[in-house]
Amino acid sequence: MTQKPTNPYLDLLSRHKATARKLKSEPIEGRKKKLKAMRRWVYQNRSLLHQAVFEDLHKPAAELDVTEIYPLLAELRHAIHRVKRWAAPKPVESGLTFLGTYSYVQAEPMGSTLIIAPWNYPLLLTLGPLVSAVAAGDTAVVKPSEMSAATSAIISRMVSELFDPDEICVIEGEVTTTTQLLELPFDHIFFTGSPTVGKIVMTAAAKNLTAVTLELGGKSPTIVDETADVHDAARKVCWAKWTNAGQTCVAPDYLFVHVKKKEQFLECLENELIHRYDDVCDYTHIINDKHEQRLKDLLSDAEQKGAKTFEPLELVGRMSPKLVLEVTDDMRLMQEEIFGPILPVLVYEDLEEVIQYLNHRPKPLALYLFTTSKANQRRVLTETSSGTAVINDAVLHFGHPHLQVGGVNNSGLGKAHGEAGFRAFSHEKSVLRQRRGYTIARLVYPPYNSFKIKLI
Ligand code: NAD
Repeated sequence: MTQKPTNPYLDLLSRHKATARKLKSEPIEGRKKKLKAMRRWVYQNRSLLHQAVFEDLHKPAAELDVTEIYPLLAELRHAIHRVKRWAAPKPVESGLTFLGTYSYVQAEPMGSTLIIAPWNYPLLLTLGPLVSAVAAGDTAVVKPSEMSAATSAIISRMVSELFDPDEICVIEGEVTTTTQLLELPFDHIFFTGSPTVGKIVMTAAAKNLTAVTLELGGKSPTIVDETADVHDAARKVCWAKWTNAGQTCVAPDYLFVHVKKKEQFLECLENELIHRYDDVCDYTHIINDKHEQRLKDLLSDAEQKGAKTFEPLELVGRMSPKLVLEVTDDMRLMQEEIFGPILPVLVYEDLEEVIQYLNHRPKPLALYLFTTSKANQRRVLTETSSGTAVINDAVLHFGHPHLQVGGVNNSGLGKAHGEAGFRAFSHEKSVLRQRRGYTIARLVYPPYNSFKIKLI
């Protein structure tokens, strides 16, 4: 009989579990010290981080600062200042029924955790969840994306310089490695990636009943209604869509524009694109040839089915921004998450059409509405469901330290960032303290005489 080979990471997990037990009694100051060390490392090695992400994505240094390094530093600062408050017991009311008791909810570390990250914001989406894990007092095995190898290597170096590998370590690898890690009974798995792989992660976690946070993707719609300020909308959509060449989980995936604003909006968007990306160096690469081919295939499928592509400017050596008009539902472009610089534009006359359309599709990670109408805001916010929603802006919410982010159904499970991130990596334990020798519950213990029956 052939024996199943032992999992190569089994020993690592038992060492992490042993550390996790010790960390439970570590004072909060210890967590703060580690977060401060992470912050110091990021400040001191900023140029190495620039180089690494440039190698992976040709991301301009200024864009990396704005979209990854500053938000990461803000996440660290936020956790350092608030972790003590987050970790403090939260008393709850007792009321008359529980007279004499004292009850509270205590956040305790989850224990041993696994963080699986994507390649698109390789620094922020790998280290951001790690900030939450450290703040919550957990151990973590970090699995960055194999597609952004240079950034994974620098993250591995950072972690090995700052942490004992039995507490936090980086395991680099492809699907086989992740599959082996997913077989193990971690206490929590925090996954950021596609809904397809999210299902694989959740299935694997179910075998061990491991808790999961799934930060997924999908098709985030943007609506520009008949009352919108089109200049403002075009400026914001342009930044939200083409930053990182559209490889952003919360980027506008497709756009609905009211028929009365179509011409004006498209003209503004075109001018905006020409103005913003006059210098090709301000525009990111597509991560690799495979993804570029995927995007070209989406486009040719749409064109074969009658869509019209429009390229406001040509960026040599990059996949230029593309607007696609006359799209229909049978096009792959309208079925799969685009995750690139292609923006399908649909035209509508009645907001009801848009609401119906959205409600017949998987719930998106983000929804954006450009409007000056309070009634339209109310309708869209109450009659549709999405992980997050932004009025008169796009993507900005992702960097808000006090605003939790996360999807719903197909776009995710659980929340991240700031206190929500801390809670994702914590178990919130309910504690009830009773006085010795006393309990009001005695009043309803059997035998059930007539007085007790009346009381119940
Ligand atoms: P992905 O799902 O392909 O990969 C994510 C991670 O899972 C990587 O580390 C990868 O190595 C691993 N992985 C891939 N296939 C696997 C498998 N079969 N079994 C186990 N592990 C596997 O996603 P990606 O291409 O890296 O990133 C793009 C996706 O991530 C998009 O859908 C995007 O919307 C989403 N995303 C979501 C957020 C968010 O915050 N919600 C942020 C960024 C990206």
